Amino acid sequence: MKTVCCVCQKTKYRNRWVKEMHLDLKTSHGYCPQCFNKTMKEIDHYFDLQDSKLAA
Ligand SMILES: [Zn+2]
Repeated sequence: MKTVCCVCQKTKYRNRWVKEMHLDLKTSHGYCPQCFNKTMKEIDHYFDLQDSKLAA
């Protein structure tokens, strides 16, 4: 089973993340390391905003 990044659509192929256009049905969606880090930062930023709203 292949894993496709749900953000940038890269496919995990062996140990590399490559851009692949054709998608088959036997894929699972996840995050490549780059988008995972980016998403984590966005979530952190989101919670920072929530905290600042609560503090105000
Ligand atoms: Zn990605």
